[in-house]
Amino acid sequence: MAAYCGRFAPSPTGPLHFGSLVAAVGSYLDARSHDGQWLVRIEDLDPPREMPGAADLILKTLAAYGFEWDGEVVYQSNRHDAYESALESLTRQGLLFPCSCSRREIADSTLGGGEHLVYPGTCRDGLVEGKVARAWRVRVTDADIAFDDNVQGPVSQCLQRDAGDFVLKRADGLYAYQLAVVVDDAWQGITHIVRGADLLDSTARQIYLQRCLGLATPGYAHLPVAINSVGEKLSKQTRAMALDLIQPAVVLWQALTFLGHPPPLELRHTDIHSLWAWAHQHWNLGAVPRIKQQNE
Ligand code: GLU
Repeated sequence: MAAYCGRFAPSPTGPLHFGSLVAAVGSYLDARSHDGQWLVRIEDLDPPREMPGAADLILKTLAAYGFEWDGEVVYQSNRHDAYESALESLTRQGLLFPCSCSRREIADSTLGGGEHLVYPGTCRDGLVEGKVARAWRVRVTDADIAFDDNVQGPVSQCLQRDAGDFVLKRADGLYAYQLAVVVDDAWQGITHIVRGADLLDSTARQIYLQRCLGLATPGYAHLPVAINSVGEKLSKQTRAMALDLIQPAVVLWQALTFLGHPPPLELRHTDIHSLWAWAHQHWNLGAVPRIKQQNE
C-alpha cells in the first residue's frame, strides 16, 4: 500500500464547531486506519476574516479531543514565497492574467445562472484600455475535470462553464484559498484529502491547478456537511456553537454517529481514549453517509 498522508486544514476565523470536528474526525480516522500520517495546517491566509487567538484555540481544542498530529503545525502565513513562485510558474506558461473587473461588473455580465458567479472572460485577452489590474486569474479550458470521490462517487465539472477563469491573487493582494491549498497539499506530501462536502465544488479547480503546476492529484473524500435546523451549514456566519471542552467524549460520540459509526452503548460513559480506540478499529469510509445531515 502506498504511504498515506492526510491532513486537517482549518481557517482560524473562529473556534472549532461541530462541522469542523466532523472533518477533523473523518480525516484523522481515515489516516490512522491506513497507518498514515495526519498533519494539521492552519490556513491563515485572510487576516481580515480571522479571529485573534483562534489558531491557538483550535490546536488546544484538538488536543482536548485527543487528536495527535504528526510533525509541526504549518501556518499558511509563512508560505507566501511558495504561492508567489507558483504564480510565476503559471505566468511563464501564459496561464495567469490580470483582471480589472469588479464583482458588480462580473455579476452584470455573468454567463451562469447559478449561485456562483461565472467569470465571463472579460480581461482574458488583455485589460480594457484605461483599466488597472485588480486581481490575477488563471485561464481555464472547456475540458471536463472528472474524479472519483471516495464518499460522493463520480464527479465531473467543466470549469469554463461552471466557474470560469478563477482568482488566484485577490484585489486586496491576498492569495486565494484555491492556490494556497494546492501548493501546500503538494508540498506537505498529502496523498488523501478528507474534508467537508462544502468543498466538493472547489475540487475540480484544485485538480486543474495541480495539472498546470505539474503536481500529483491526491485522493478525495468529501464528508456530509452538518446543518442546523433551518438547513444552513454550521459555520461562524450561521453562529455555530464553539465545541465544548469539558465533555469531549460526548461530542466525539455525536461526531462518530454523524459519520455513520455509532459506538456501542456500553461505551456510552467511557473516556475519549477508549472511544478513539473503538473508532480506529471500526472506521470504514464506506459506512459514511453521503448527504447533508442536521445536527442541532
Ligand atoms: N481552510 C478550509 C476551511 O476551513 C478547508 C480547506 C480544505 O480542507 O481544503 O474551510
